[in-house]
Amino acid sequence: MGHINERIKAEVESISLVDTHEHIMLEAERNECAVDFSYLFAHYNSSDLISAGLSPRMMEAIRFPMHRVRVEGYKHRKVRRIIPEPEKDNMSLDERWQAMEPFWEMIRNTAYAKQTLITIRDVFGVDDLNRNTYRQLSEAIAKSRGPDWYRHVMKEKANIAVSIVDWQSTDLQPDLFVPAMRLDHFISAQSRADLVALEGESGMAIHSLDDLAKAMRATLEGYISRGAVAVKSGLAYNRILKYDKVSRYEAEVAFNRIAGHLGEGLAWLEAKPLQDYMMHQVIRAAIDTGLPVQVHTGLQEGNENIITNANPTHLVNLFIEYKEARFDLFHGGYPYVHEWATLAKNFSNVTADITWLPIISPGIARQLLHELIETVPGNKIMAFGGDSMTVEMAYGHSVMTRQVVARVLSEKIDEGYLGEDEAVVLARRMLRDNPASLYKLDIAEKRA
Ligand SMILES: [Zn+2]
Repeated sequence: MGHINERIKAEVESISLVDTHEHIMLEAERNECAVDFSYLFAHYNSSDLISAGLSPRMMEAIRFPMHRVRVEGYKHRKVRRIIPEPEKDNMSLDERWQAMEPFWEMIRNTAYAKQTLITIRDVFGVDDLNRNTYRQLSEAIAKSRGPDWYRHVMKEKANIAVSIVDWQSTDLQPDLFVPAMRLDHFISAQSRADLVALEGESGMAIHSLDDLAKAMRATLEGYISRGAVAVKSGLAYNRILKYDKVSRYEAEVAFNRIAGHLGEGLAWLEAKPLQDYMMHQVIRAAIDTGLPVQVHTGLQEGNENIITNANPTHLVNLFIEYKEARFDLFHGGYPYVHEWATLAKNFSNVTADITWLPIISPGIARQLLHELIETVPGNKIMAFGGDSMTVEMAYGHSVMTRQVVARVLSEKIDEGYLGEDEAVVLARRMLRDNPASLYKLDIAEKRA
């Protein structure tokens, strides 16, 4: 391990970041649930606690103050995920801590816990999370509810110029956030009730496969008129990323079985031809409107998913067919990091976005950044996306990302691979200029 180059460290710390990916809840929602330590266990930590053996129902009871926002958030994002009913919803703060404590001690070694400890130290002035500090942390979180908190954390603490937020809302705080919007609900319609909801959102009647595609386009145009800068797809949580080129006929057969029935609709697998067809339609709409498509690849947050569904190599037919599209591939494709890097090297319409990876594994993030610098053109590497539901954890993520970038660039200088000036330019590209250019963001205006 090389030493940290002080010039690079200072440069990386001073860059006003362009943040490609967040799930930050609205500040009004935050003010309802930021009442105690459980606020920082909305996701990620909770997955490691469950992996360590905590029961999912007890996890829901522990983070009960977050429960409404979590359920609403997943509904907004059209993620088919069952959130278990909490075991008890009337546990005291002390009881909730005691239920969590043994498992928290077991996840202290994971990077999610490290991110949490950086966050509480720097944002709330609490040195550790343990039986002696959870009340102090809870009070600090409750006290932080007030005007301008989001701006304080995202600007003054994290130094983020602008964040692209995936919360299925275009009604975001304009000095901090711009929306990425999902069209996955148009792809994954499965029942008459789903179509009715899409008719409601689009304001159009949907009686045919063509109507469905038209309603999707009209909805996208509405999102863009309200500021959307990207289309986001999270379907790797629900199905394989292989979107076959299916005939209209196959898709229409599936559509007609949905449209004409009052019952349950199609089983998920029977709907695949319709989903495949609609994904191709979504990409064509993104091309026509000039929006990049953000694609979730690799590890799915939560527990007990099917990782092979999310292998980024399933997407190659889309990259080959839609040369005019811009695919921003998320999360380093972890654990398929080498295949993922190869796709960004190979295809001019694919960019490599390591959002989330620095808090999954800083070690793998460093190795992958070394690999990307050696293999992928410097205009296609995106190094920061906070991928958090809370501004505080986005801050912790920004700290860990700056550490990863500063250390890798220092090592590359030590190896004699990069000169210092070259490394400075690369840092600015990865942390700011590349995403600003891909998403056409006016960061000069945002910085004012
Ligand atoms: Zn995400």
